[in-house]
Amino acid sequence: MSEKTLSLIKPDAVERNLIGKIIQIFEDNNLIIDQMKKIHVDIEFAKKFYAIHSSKPFFKDLCDYISSGPLVAIVLKGDNAVQKNRDLMGSTNPKDAKPGTIRNLYAISIDKNSVHGSDSVENAIIEIDLFFKN
Ligand code: UDP
Ligand code: MG
Repeated sequence: MSEKTLSLIKPDAVERNLIGKIIQIFEDNNLIIDQMKKIHVDIEFAKKFYAIHSSKPFFKDLCDYISSGPLVAIVLKGDNAVQKNRDLMGSTNPKDAKPGTIRNLYAISIDKNSVHGSDSVENAIIEIDLFFKN
């Protein structure tokens, strides 16, 4: 069934000119770029987006990092888009990411791991709304 998910190309990847290479992986796997924009979010937006992680020890660094430079927010559309994007991303820690996944190819570390992807259809709706409602 066709669904939508939010992908972020995070600041570490934007900074290294990897936008095109990452989008190519999505398109090669039949995910459609439904909406896309480059945006530099502020710390307040970052805290809202990552609110689910607010109790984690890495929360402050995570919010500082995601607001440290421009990112590319993308709405991906296609069959099984949420899980397909997660599979293409690979594990959170690039050391555990399977060969050929985005994080295996491009991530620097567990914190600078190049991409975000919604983890469920419900969260995808919330995250897309946060980035693309106005
Ligand atoms: N993160 C981190 N340190 C950790 C775990 C996570 O800096 O020990 C960061 C990392 O950027 C990750 C984000 O927090 O992408 C959200 O964590 P989550 O567990 O949701 O991983 P994801 O869904 O991105 O794979
Ligand atoms: Mg997550």
